[in-house]
Amino acid sequence: MPSGVLRSFLETRLAELEEQGLGNSIEPLEGPNGPVITINGKSFINLSSNNYLGLATDERIIEAGIQAMRIYGAGAGAVRTINGTMTLHAELEEKLAAFKGTEAAIAYQSGFNCNMAAISAVMDQHDAILSDELNHASIIDGCRLSKAKIIRYRHSDMDDLNRKAKEAVESGLFAKVMVITDGVFSMDGDVAKLPDIVDIAERYGLITYVDDAHGSGVLGKGAGTVKHFGLSERIDFQIGTLSKAIGVVGGYVAGTKPLIDWLKVRSRPFLFSTSLPPAAVASCIASIDILRNSTEAYERLWDNANYFKRGLTELGFDIGASETPITPCIIGDEKKTQRFSRILYREGVYAKAIVFPTVPLGTGRVRNMPTAAHTREMLDRALEIYAAAKRELEREDAG
Ligand code: PMP
Repeated sequence: MPSGVLRSFLETRLAELEEQGLGNSIEPLEGPNGPVITINGKSFINLSSNNYLGLATDERIIEAGIQAMRIYGAGAGAVRTINGTMTLHAELEEKLAAFKGTEAAIAYQSGFNCNMAAISAVMDQHDAILSDELNHASIIDGCRLSKAKIIRYRHSDMDDLNRKAKEAVESGLFAKVMVITDGVFSMDGDVAKLPDIVDIAERYGLITYVDDAHGSGVLGKGAGTVKHFGLSERIDFQIGTLSKAIGVVGGYVAGTKPLIDWLKVRSRPFLFSTSLPPAAVASCIASIDILRNSTEAYERLWDNANYFKRGLTELGFDIGASETPITPCIIGDEKKTQRFSRILYREGVYAKAIVFPTVPLGTGRVRNMPTAAHTREMLDRALEIYAAAKRELEREDAG
């Protein structure tokens, strides 16, 4: 019999979250996460997916997955180091290294898993990690797991980073110091100041770690933020996910051969969790091949993103510091942001409200992700709905 104490604790906490508007109302999609989605039989223009290049529904990628499942089976059957490494996994890692311009790469089951794995395999209680205050949750958890001292610096504030790096190194308290940043920040769509971060790292001898989940496929002609800045030789860890622009699932670290060899013997999700399923691996390989051989989807992504951003700005929306397709519409007040997102939903646009605690209080926003797969008609229709929703909200405010 489950414990009544646990049930009453959870029910109270869930009711509190619901009251604060932090409940999780998940609505299953009745088909793929493409530019138009279906929920409860109703179609929506989808501005909430990370399927940047539309590759999640690309026939070539689907076919590669189906073929691999027939040859290799549905599951990998073991962890990588027992006998869950198939020739496909090795091929994916070679492709990833070539894609990122590094000596080697290692694949994990997800981007989240990858951050949990990689940080704690290299850093420990004798070390310190300088972490941008807006870094992704998986970086925060990976840092905690390592037991290193975590020193947060203000978002993209290079003076603050420089001062804290100097202090940490000169204190003599730490064996190693690492600086960790997202390449592209997922709530604002701004790009990390990697050239400055690398200069500071080289000045103080820091290890560098860039999680480019939202930059790969999107910046640097698709190769990512590090390539965009021409810094491939100067970054120790290039992290990525295979679930966003690549359109499938998985995560990876690209770096030097000794780094990848070390992660293969020391990172726990690699050692103790079953490897990626063959279909997913084959689909990732096909996706990377497409991405490397053609910039067509990449160019469409940027055309669409620039078009949609210009449209929102002309309508008077505040898109903040966005420099990438991630386009927040900053509304401010939490309740108003939720209301705005609900109006969009009622009118057929799926764009989620993102509020405190995911973003700071008073900076609620609706986050938009235009992709390569949207047509101009879809984006125009979405902009019309945005304009009408804005008028409706203004009328409510006035009344
Ligand atoms: N890092 C960052 C910066 C992310 O935005 C995300 C995805 N939200 C992840 C890691 C996790 O990646 P995945 O979804 O592949 O687990």
